[in-house]
Amino acid sequence: MVHTVLGDIAPEKLGITLCHEHIFCGSGDMAKAFGSRFYDKERLISAAVRQIREAKEKFGLCTLLDGTPIDLGRDVGLMVRCAEETGVNIVASTGLYYDERSFMHGADFGWITELFLRECREGMEDTWKTENPVLPGMLKCATGSAGVTEGNRMYLAVMGAVQKETGLPLFAHNEHRIHTGPVQLDVLEQAGANPEKIICGHASDSDDIPYLENLLKRGVFLGFDRLWGEEKHADTVCRLLERGWEKRLLLARDGGAFVGFGGRRFEAEMCRKENTFTAVLDTFCSMLRARGVSESEIGSMLVGNIQTLFA
Ligand SMILES: [Zn+2]
Repeated sequence: MVHTVLGDIAPEKLGITLCHEHIFCGSGDMAKAFGSRFYDKERLISAAVRQIREAKEKFGLCTLLDGTPIDLGRDVGLMVRCAEETGVNIVASTGLYYDERSFMHGADFGWITELFLRECREGMEDTWKTENPVLPGMLKCATGSAGVTEGNRMYLAVMGAVQKETGLPLFAHNEHRIHTGPVQLDVLEQAGANPEKIICGHASDSDDIPYLENLLKRGVFLGFDRLWGEEKHADTVCRLLERGWEKRLLLARDGGAFVGFGGRRFEAEMCRKENTFTAVLDTFCSMLRARGVSESEIGSMLVGNIQTLFA
């Protein structure tokens, strides 16, 4: 079963799924410290609900995999509200981003791993105390531009161990420009993770076919999840489809209703016309069709492969 924020569903019920998006992604510390001066949660919910509904009504969006880790402002209540108001399944994640936190220096591997395991089994935040605990349906790990450092290695090993124990799919953020994929995968596998449950994320940042194929040969799914509408992204997906990788590719935009990175301000983000949850289903799929990609291949990348990942 797949744990959505509103309860468990069978993988066959996931339907058209974007494999890596965010409702809110930014600093949870800033949001807590500055409250509505940092961002207005009600306005964010109404913007997210409008965008998700449009993606559902026009393009049949059925499920969003929200890839926000605990240290990028993951907010369970926000996801529950958006799922309730749209009828679209939202799957929340647990895990860590790549930044090494000072309060984590010297952290005990077993204790951190246990915290994550309990969250996966009993519920996120304080929902485990309620009648409706909300379980994460995915795991998240990340390696950034510094590569697999000592601290990052520990974070990765924790999530590799949690994947082994829980069997949950793991989205792995990568910096493919410096080829972090294989090194990160080594650490995850050594910790016991099953590569067939891993989405090697942000593969769309690379057009290096031999590099991408070497990752695919290790059994992972590749997340083409930063599809901003660039022609080269469609070209790379087509080359991998031609080489027989239809069953291992997933699509998304890595967007959100409010992504507060790079000093982006809430007010400015709320004025954007762009709906990030329709971008892939509209523009990018049209680019694929124009290149002769079949509906069946698109169906694999948006529906079938997600079911395999969660099976
Ligand atoms: Zn992301």
